[in-house]
Amino acid sequence: TVRVRIAPSPTGNLHIGTARTAVFNWLFAHNQKGKFILRIEDTDEARSRQEYTENIQSGLKWLGLNWDEGPFFQTQRLDRYQQAIQTLLDKDLAYRCYCTPEELEQMREEQKTKGLAPRYDNRHRNLTSEQIAAYEAEGRKPVIRFKIDDHREIVWHDLIRDEVRWKGSDLGGDMVVARAAEGDQAFGQPLYNLAVVVDDIDMEITHVIRGEDHIANTAKQILLYEAMGVKVPEFAHTPLILNQDGRKLSKRDGVTSIDDFRKMGFLPEAMANYMSLLGWTPPDSTEEIFTLSQAAEQFSLDRVNKAGAKFDWAKLDWINSQYLHQMPPDKLVELLVPYWQEGGYEINLDTDHPWLESLTAMIAPSLTRLTDAVKESKLLFGESVEYSQEALDFLKQDEVKPLLQELLETINFTNALSEAEAKNIVNQLTKTHKVKKGLVMRSLRAGLTGELHGPDLIQSWLLLNQKGLDRIRLQQTLS
Ligand code: GLU
Repeated sequence: TVRVRIAPSPTGNLHIGTARTAVFNWLFAHNQKGKFILRIEDTDEARSRQEYTENIQSGLKWLGLNWDEGPFFQTQRLDRYQQAIQTLLDKDLAYRCYCTPEELEQMREEQKTKGLAPRYDNRHRNLTSEQIAAYEAEGRKPVIRFKIDDHREIVWHDLIRDEVRWKGSDLGGDMVVARAAEGDQAFGQPLYNLAVVVDDIDMEITHVIRGEDHIANTAKQILLYEAMGVKVPEFAHTPLILNQDGRKLSKRDGVTSIDDFRKMGFLPEAMANYMSLLGWTPPDSTEEIFTLSQAAEQFSLDRVNKAGAKFDWAKLDWINSQYLHQMPPDKLVELLVPYWQEGGYEINLDTDHPWLESLTAMIAPSLTRLTDAVKESKLLFGESVEYSQEALDFLKQDEVKPLLQELLETINFTNALSEAEAKNIVNQLTKTHKVKKGLVMRSLRAGLTGELHGPDLIQSWLLLNQKGLDRIRLQQTLS
């Protein structure tokens, strides 16, 4: 059966690129009725943090990307890496390199002056036992290097990029697979390429789907699979996510972590939907709104593009609004409450619920992001009105105040207004004052909200009326 994994390093919050790779892995696993595995690559203990591990897991769950196995932690598997390193040494496929950082630096300098690309020149590949003894006597701590044959050509059939060829000589010389040991350790910290291969073998990963920035690693890892005498998995390298300028999306573009998108008011369903389209084209490309499960039914790696995927804010907004508009108000209201609270509106969750639900029903069609609810409902919260200059000028007109005065008297004697009653009052005022209906409506809007524009007027009025805010506000306007 198919087994895939997402293997984030907990050196930062869940990143959009990692999340998108997770989406593709999840879609592929579900399409193939396989397993999706979470592995936390925390061997770099200096940069790894518990809070990032938590953020990555909660972010994946928020997006609906549940994993079938894991999380596995590399720091709990260190003895497996040690075994693998020992095996490579025993088979003479790896060796101890005693070069000091200064020697390596000098080597690179010389290469640079000759106009060569920096690489390790394999100088300690064939040390004599005397040389080794001498270095040991000096107290040098060796790293472990895996031998890379410069003459090898590494070729694989990538499930997204078709045939990929890589020259052994372009891999930078024999590669470090373990850092220098400290204390009484047999070997030091295992490095990424080794740990990944050991893990992917042990976890029986059949397909490695990851970002194209890992292509050179894949070439190295294929050599490690061969060295360990196991079958090489299939590889698929997903395209980068690009910003508007066609460069890799980065911190400079304002948002990178999934948390940022959540805070900006995007729904998890919309984010997952949008990310699945970042590089993948569904067979029926006219249908762009779907759940992850629906996408999984149709997903295949051969419909993932090789070219970078431009991040399109307008499209993400459009998808988000589709989800917002189709969500029932009783569900949407739950999502909006935190944004209103953050916006500083006073909410009593015990008593305000029906009112908030009506408010939600009114503003929902104008929402693109959850955060828009703050702006869209600004005029409906609170007792006091702030007037725009435009509204103040309007309210100065002679015929406006008498209209509002009469309106106030009328509603002083009514209980909760119905929609029909509210419309009736407007019609009555139009008749008795012999003015245009538009003037009555504008007066009402200015008097109640302090603005000349805003959400549906009758609905807004009814909402204010339910809380007795229409009277209080009209009194303020008339005073
Ligand atoms: N820890 C690596 C990363 O976050 C994983 C790459 C891989 O999938 O092998 O980029």
